[in-house]
Amino acid sequence: MSTSTEPRIYDFAGIGVGPFNLGLAALSEPMDGLDGVFLEQRDSFDWHPGMMLEPAHLQVPFMADLVTLADPTSPYSFLNFLKQTGRLYRFYIRENFYPLRAEYNQYCQWVAGQLRSVRFSTVVLDVTYDAGVYRLSVEGPEGPEVLLARRLVLGTGTSPYVPASCDGIVDAAANGGDLSSTMPTTCRGRVSCRPNAASPSWAAARAPRKSTTSSCRRSTSTATS
Ligand SMILES: Cc1cc2nc3c(=O)[nH]c(=O)nc-3n(C[C@H](O)[C@H](O)[C@H](O)COP(=O)(O)OP(=O)(O)OC[C@H]3O[C@@H](n4cnc5c(N)ncnc54)[C@H](O)[C@@H]3O)c2cc1C
Repeated sequence: MSTSTEPRIYDFAGIGVGPFNLGLAALSEPMDGLDGVFLEQRDSFDWHPGMMLEPAHLQVPFMADLVTLADPTSPYSFLNFLKQTGRLYRFYIRENFYPLRAEYNQYCQWVAGQLRSVRFSTVVLDVTYDAGVYRLSVEGPEGPEVLLARRLVLGTGTSPYVPASCDGIVDAAANGGDLSSTMPTTCRGRVSCRPNAASPSWAAARAPRKSTTSSCRRSTSTATS
C-alpha cells in the first residue's frame, strides 16, 4: 500500500487492450485490493476494424465472451450487454448464438467504457526491470510518464507477417486484416472474398476499386478469420 509520498506501484500493468487484456481488466475490476492498470495506444477499443464485414460472425457462441467462462456472474457478460442495451429478445429470437463481429466489437466497447483501470491513447514505449519492479515509459494524453508495476501482462497481439517470397508484391496485396477497406465496394456486406486456394491467405490480390464481383463468391455463412 503506497502513501502520498511514495510512488504508486501497481500490482500489475497490462500492455495492450484487445480482447485478451480487456477480459482480464473486466474480471479484475471488482477485486478489492488489486491495483492494476491497462494501457492501450488506440483512442478507443476497436477489434480488427478492417474485418468488420457486415454479416461476419464469431466462430464461437456468445458464452465465450470476455468473462462468462471464468465468472458467469460477472456484470460484464455479453448477456448483460444485450440486456442493458435493450437487445436481449432480438438476440434470442434470431436463434443464432454466434454474435456478429460488429456486435462483439460493440460489446467490448461497452465493457471498456466501464472500466476504471483502462487508459486509452497511451502507448508503452519502453519497459525496464529492476529490483522486482517494472518501469514503463509511456506517452499519453498528459505527455510522457513513468509507471511502476510489480507484474506485466503482455496483450499486444500480433503483427502482419509478409513471407519473403512475397516481398515484391507487397504494394499489390492486402493483409486480411485490412479486408473491408481494400475489397471492392460491391462485395462489402453481402459476399465474402476468398483468396485463390493456391495463394497464401494474407496475399489475396488487392481487387481494383471498380471491379465487379467476379473474384467473389456469394456466401451465407461467412468465415471470420
Ligand atoms: C485480422 C485478424 C482477424 C482475426 N479474427 C479472429 C476471429 O475471428 N476469431 C478469433 O478467435 N481470433 C481472431 N483473430 C486472432 C486474434 O489474435 C484475436 O482475435 C484477438 O484480437 C487477440 O486479442 P489480443 O488482445 O491478444 O490482441 P489484439 O486484439 O491484437 O490487441 C492488441 C492491442 O495491443 C495494443 N498495443 C500493441 N502494442 C502496444 C503498446 N506498445 N502500447 C500500447 N498498446 C499497444 C494494440 O493497439 C492492440 O489494440 C484475428 C486476428 C487478426 C490479425
